Amino acid sequence: MTEPASEAKIVKTQILVAGAGSTGIAAAMAFARAGHKVALVGRFPPSLPGRTVALFEASTRFLDALGVLQRVKEKAAPIAAIRMVDDTTQLLPTPDLVLQAREIGLPALGVNISNDELVEILIAAARERADFEIIEADIANFAFDGDSAVALLADGRRVEADFVVAADGRASRARAVAGIDTQEWTYPQVALTALLTHERPHDGVSVEFHTRSGPFTLVPLQGREGAPNRSSLVWLMSVADASRRLAKPGKELQFELEDRSHGRYGAMAIEGGIGQFRMGGMRVSAYAKDRVALVGETCHVFPPIGAQGLNLSLRDVADLEECLASVDFANRRELGHALARYDRHRRADIGFRTLGVDLLNRSLIIPYLPVDLLRGAGFVAVSAFAPLRRALIREGVAPHLLLPRLMQEKTSRPRARRAG
Ligand SMILES: Cc1cc2nc3c(=O)[nH]c(=O)nc-3n(C[C@H](O)[C@H](O)[C@H](O)COP(=O)(O)OP(=O)(O)OC[C@H]3O[C@@H](n4cnc5c(N)ncnc54)[C@H](O)[C@@H]3O)c2cc1C
Repeated sequence: MTEPASEAKIVKTQILVAGAGSTGIAAAMAFARAGHKVALVGRFPPSLPGRTVALFEASTRFLDALGVLQRVKEKAAPIAAIRMVDDTTQLLPTPDLVLQAREIGLPALGVNISNDELVEILIAAARERADFEIIEADIANFAFDGDSAVALLADGRRVEADFVVAADGRASRARAVAGIDTQEWTYPQVALTALLTHERPHDGVSVEFHTRSGPFTLVPLQGREGAPNRSSLVWLMSVADASRRLAKPGKELQFELEDRSHGRYGAMAIEGGIGQFRMGGMRVSAYAKDRVALVGETCHVFPPIGAQGLNLSLRDVADLEECLASVDFANRRELGHALARYDRHRRADIGFRTLGVDLLNRSLIIPYLPVDLLRGAGFVAVSAFAPLRRALIREGVAPHLLLPRLMQEKTSRPRARRAG
């Protein structure tokens, strides 16, 4: 271990949030809002050109509680509906499945915003609030023993805390030092992402074309001067196809995008850089241990199908904030109970999403007739039965059984305690 830090180099805090990505910044804001002494430690994330994030109803309520929703809405496009199109050319024709916000009494299912703009808004809000300390430095190591948790920073400083919220991403050092195991796997897919302008309007509808290589998804984006119709693209395909397409002249790729979307959007143009992300999955053996709790990509990774990743991460944060409310960190038993509750909640919510995304993805890329029939039957059932469809929409945008207080409707009467 490194030599002891001098007093001037020691920062003492109650909650140390490790990692300053979207999840970490949101976590620091939520815990500071709840009255904890917080230090957010990490470097802000680099720009992710061509990538957007769709945030659904429960997440927008959470952003509202953090005081940033208005700013997000100013840069985002509302998503009024999601249309899923079976484009696998499977044997039996499957109807399009349309999930509309108005079916559950909402004006929109959520909003879509560029990743960079979201991060910019969160950083600006965090700096303005000044109710927690921001330490822009890398964490070289952690020590979790005894009654406190220690982070040793790369610049020689030392942060001592009662508790660590680990938001340091999929290769989390905090998770490793806490001794939490991971199970990781890869999919034979790459996601290409881009921002697009197109001729015809998207009408607020996000369209997922389910193809044999994975979903080809277009999500509404806010228009700009001279480009009123814009969408973001998330396109899953094999590794070889991704290399081939990235090597194509831009014009040819744009023609292919028009064909893939069956001409619905008219002529298309790619706005800037194209992002590429190798698809993988990860689950963890525990969501909390001793003085550490995991949030965001430290504890769940899966392909971007149904736009669940950051929505789930914000739910982790809101859930943890509620579980730790009024917990005395010095009381090991009390803390242990709170973390056991957090672990139980996250296991159910994250396990369900990881499995759902995995099954849908594999059912597309493995051309196996019985699986096609099952998927098709699911589409037909949900299309035909309104109560089933409404349940599915609610589960996607604001899953009511697992909704922490920061994500509940402002106007609703206080709810009964959550299950578990
Ligand atoms: C193509 C694609 C599309 C997606 N679309 C959506 C969508 O529409 N909706 C949605 O909800 N989700 C979506 N997601 C998922 C979402 O983008 C991720 O879940 C989210 O970005 C994860 O954020 P995070 O803060 O948990 O992790 P990260 O962004 O990885 O942040 C981790 C942070 O920790 C820092 N860090 C790591 N180690 C250290 C250290 N030792 N010291 C200090 N700092 C450290 C890193 O620098 C980084 O800033 C998508 C993902 C992909 C790949």
